[in-house]
Amino acid sequence: MRIDLLGSAAALPDPDRNHTGIAVTVADRTYLVDCGHGATRQLMRNNLDHVAIDHVFLTHLHYDHVADFPYFMISSWMCDRANAPIVFGPPGTDAFVGHLFEGGAFDADIRARSAYPKRQGNLHVLRPEIRTITPGVIFEDEHVRVIAEPADHIPPEICECYAFRFEAGGKSFVYSSDTRPLEGIERLARDTDLLVHDCTFPRTALEFRDQVGVGTSAHTSPADLGALAARAGVKALVPYHFGHFDTTNPVLRKHLAGHMPINLAGPDLLDEVVSDIRKSYDGPVHLARDGLRFDL
Ligand SMILES: [Zn+2]
Ligand SMILES: [Zn+2]
Repeated sequence: MRIDLLGSAAALPDPDRNHTGIAVTVADRTYLVDCGHGATRQLMRNNLDHVAIDHVFLTHLHYDHVADFPYFMISSWMCDRANAPIVFGPPGTDAFVGHLFEGGAFDADIRARSAYPKRQGNLHVLRPEIRTITPGVIFEDEHVRVIAEPADHIPPEICECYAFRFEAGGKSFVYSSDTRPLEGIERLARDTDLLVHDCTFPRTALEFRDQVGVGTSAHTSPADLGALAARAGVKALVPYHFGHFDTTNPVLRKHLAGHMPINLAGPDLLDEVVSDIRKSYDGPVHLARDGLRFDL
């Protein structure tokens, strides 16, 4: 099983990191988990063909996890995709996808391009099958089994959020999605070969957010993540979905100032992330970055 990180940032525009996207490849088949900004281009950078991806798994409908989806779909239509993908997502995914293509936000684009006869031949690929996620095994084929587990991130009445476990050939990979630390995800990650887990803010930023009451979404601190990874016995850990706290870009730092004490922000905070994880977890820790590849 091969895992490619296509993005590694939280939700603000970040000159150094794409938004969330992970490719899972088994044999010659690639499965896409989330499709945040930059995911499609990063697939190509990692020599993975977006046109060959027939299964997309969306953890939740925050824009930093789905904004690249129309780009993924329309560009693969233009690249002669033959089959409509199957899209797994939380309740609401059918409405999200249903508003994008024919008769939706990109209707004029699609009508213009389909004036060319060749583009009419595969117009059906813009009508993906939507499968709504419920907890448990959500997909199985000859290569992989995919299990979904509820995450706790935003109010579920607004959007449910799911962690995924991929199993193939005796190996496993778990992605937490955006979430606070949960026993259910700890169980899902038991003895996994690779856990990619929410680690949006280091301790100093979380304390600031609590004091000023900023932020409405639940995330996981590095110390809590290290403790969870140790209890679950994960074989390797990737703290993921960084909240831009390592940026040196002046424009991003201006916008980040509302989320954390900006005088503390900088690459040094990555050291704090690792040392907080190390209080409990002594296995391999790989800081997330775009394009990082793991072969399990
Ligand atoms: Zn996110
Ligand atoms: Zn989110």
